[in-house]
Amino acid sequence: MSALLDQFGRRIEYLRISVTDRCNFRCSYCMPLEGLPWLPKADILTYEEIAEVVRQLAPMGLRRVRITGGEPTIRPQLSTLVRLLRATPDVEDIALSTNGVRLPELASELAEAGLDRINMSSDSLKSDRIAAIARRDLRFDPIAAASAAQDAGLAPIKLNVVVMRGINDDEVLDFARLTLERPWHVRFIELMPVGEMAMLSDAHVVPSEEVLARIGAAFGPLEPTAGPARGNGPAAYHRLPGGVGTVGVITPMTHTYCGSCNRVRLTADGRLRTCLFGDHEVDLRTPLRAGIPLAPFVRRALAEKPEAHALLARRVGGLRALSQVGG
Ligand code: SAM
Ligand code: SF4
Repeated sequence: MSALLDQFGRRIEYLRISVTDRCNFRCSYCMPLEGLPWLPKADILTYEEIAEVVRQLAPMGLRRVRITGGEPTIRPQLSTLVRLLRATPDVEDIALSTNGVRLPELASELAEAGLDRINMSSDSLKSDRIAAIARRDLRFDPIAAASAAQDAGLAPIKLNVVVMRGINDDEVLDFARLTLERPWHVRFIELMPVGEMAMLSDAHVVPSEEVLARIGAAFGPLEPTAGPARGNGPAAYHRLPGGVGTVGVITPMTHTYCGSCNRVRLTADGRLRTCLFGDHEVDLRTPLRAGIPLAPFVRRALAEKPEAHALLARRVGGLRALSQVGG
């Protein structure tokens, strides 16, 4: 069967799978304090149904999947899904995005089920500050959580830090320092103006150039590097002098990755979204539950995948500017 190509010739080999819309955190840049109008349980795809979507996409070129949310680890028996995905022919890479709270108890079980690696979000190394940003006090130690994942054999370990001026940017050097002794990949993410941060974000956005300049000034010249062998997404990696891990930056607000975007997303209720920021989506749950093959629906969604996302276009001055910065 032919590869999954969208209307701009980008090959779609990577699927982000949201297994729940719920979360045990309420990060202000992501979710309102009172939560969201949660999806009814009957609308949420079962693990078998998710695995069936992946089985039908694999012959069309899908090779890598990421389990995400909401917070995926709060859905019971997540290792059952990992096991089903691992058993799907052609799926080469299974990653998990998590806030890490449940990693100490789940990391080994997930690794045994066939999980390859994790991206753990951690906006602070201080538990009281995490509680303030997440607006939930779960007494959480991010170093212990990432270490549990490392001990379980998950690799590479990537830590995602959303950098916010005046909120956690004083910890940039502490995060960078972790890479001197640990083989971890710390990625600093520019805050995106969505959710409750939309009104405040300009003041809080710290451009990635500033993050790298601060790290270079403190530790010495950064050496550009290829980054981790697996799962290289939209990050540029650097190594501190003498470091074992890397520091990276993800710059959704000052650069674009749309031109090389190979990602599509399956929502918890079975819609295929072709851009994180757009409304382009196709319902896969209805045909799936009716036993109708998904390929024509997937092709229709890809035909509508936008060339670049509107959020960025607004910020950097339209699509012409996008093409000039590499989009
Ligand atoms: N709950 C999991 C977690 O936090 O890793 C997975 C889902 S979370 C939505 C995925 C990633 O999106 C996290 O790394 C989070 O920091 C990032 N994110 C959410 N809202 C963001 C925003 N407004 N700006 C930048 N990154 C954001
Ligand atoms: Fe959003 Fe992840 Fe924070 Fe939950 S932990 S509120 S899903 S960023």
